[in-house]
Amino acid sequence: MSSAVRWEGKLSTSFAELQGVRQGSVWSPSVYKLFVNPLIKKLESDSLGFKIGNVFVGTPMCADDLLLISSKPDELQTMISYTAHFAETEEYNISKEKTKVMIWNSSLNCNLWNQMEKFHIGSEALETVENYKHIGIDRDSREVEATRTIIGNRLKTARQTSYALMGSGLHGLNGLNPEVSCKLWSTYVVPRLLFGLEIVNLSAKDISRLDIFCQLPITALLHKKILITFGTIARSDSVENDLAKRQLSTKGKNSKSWFIRADKILKQYNLPCASEVLLKPETKYKWKMKVKKCVDGFWSEKLFTEAKSKPSLRYLNIKNCKIGVVNSIWKSAGSEQMCIRKACYKIKMLLDTYILQYHRSKFSNGQKTSICPLCEEGTENLEHFLVVCSALTSIRDIFISKLYAVVVPKIGTASWTDICVSNSKMINLILDCSSFEWYYVLEKNDINLVESITRSLCYSLHEKRSALLESK
Ligand SMILES: [Zn+2]
Repeated sequence: MSSAVRWEGKLSTSFAELQGVRQGSVWSPSVYKLFVNPLIKKLESDSLGFKIGNVFVGTPMCADDLLLISSKPDELQTMISYTAHFAETEEYNISKEKTKVMIWNSSLNCNLWNQMEKFHIGSEALETVENYKHIGIDRDSREVEATRTIIGNRLKTARQTSYALMGSGLHGLNGLNPEVSCKLWSTYVVPRLLFGLEIVNLSAKDISRLDIFCQLPITALLHKKILITFGTIARSDSVENDLAKRQLSTKGKNSKSWFIRADKILKQYNLPCASEVLLKPETKYKWKMKVKKCVDGFWSEKLFTEAKSKPSLRYLNIKNCKIGVVNSIWKSAGSEQMCIRKACYKIKMLLDTYILQYHRSKFSNGQKTSICPLCEEGTENLEHFLVVCSALTSIRDIFISKLYAVVVPKIGTASWTDICVSNSKMINLILDCSSFEWYYVLEKNDINLVESITRSLCYSLHEKRSALLESK
């Protein structure tokens, strides 16, 4: 293997590299595996290392990260000595600082293990620790702390990542279109939050701590990751595959085994059971699509049933909502700041989070009046504000006539009259017209036009209301 240095656009003469593998190269892990394989084989053939049933799991490794597992301290020390000896003969160094010992299910605490100096590389004692990061995943040997530390660290990383993205306008108002923010979020924040968590047994509390960071419930995302990993194991000819077969045939329903957990999740989504997947594994792409469809379908159903029971979402056409697809309010708003700003108000009204006098009265337990401060003619709720309030008629009429000009040629006068005689239909037209059948025959341009007019209507009503309140 030869390398060269690029400096200020110029390339140095190349030189041969006689040791090590190239950082980040696709071929590096395989080269390293070939190199270190004799050590792994030797440990296995000498029966050193942990076994689950008759499946040898004593030396899992990833790239140049090696883990030695044993249930007996003396055996573990022998394994360390083998590894140190192998390194010596092959002329490479094992980092003593980075090599740590972790002990599970011991009656002794970490300090006592350290005092005993039980484990050594050469003459140097290895430190025993309670938690350590292995291939990017925090591990903690204290049962209670185990997942709490991991989740705490993950939340920290996810927050740091999201703060770093704030500069590019990730925050709501005056920033990026939420469609773009969503994409940034799921590309940069969520993967860091969830990396490797599919193999950790998280508690309900852990999951609820993570939940604030995602659009889909975190459970759904974790389930997808677990099922996809299980698919990979099913397709591979590996120790994990042997282990899956063993655990699934020997462990009961209540076992904490990862494979039993995967089996339960498969059943939850009406997918074939784990043994079936192992027998007839599907291709990577097909399996991924199948998992996505089943998990998304299950959660859509669940979320939509929940949404239907919420009166504040009555103007949102739930049937038109899809997981991973942004609402047309955002889609049509593009990247212009003023449009996004207007869309923010419209979406607040659609989700009934735009605060009117009715809300103030409700939140104060009736201490404050709910009467419209503008016209004083009735309760100021969303219906009153959008289609009734006489103080806002002049503004409203401008936009309604614009809507008339766009919509009537497409839907006819009869349908328009039908909308005009019903307040709730008019609100639907303003906030989410996808609930009308004619919506689906409109062309994209017309939809965008309707969105643009109604967005401006909502914003102008808000502006007028604020101005009137200020002048009072
Ligand atoms: Zn009013």
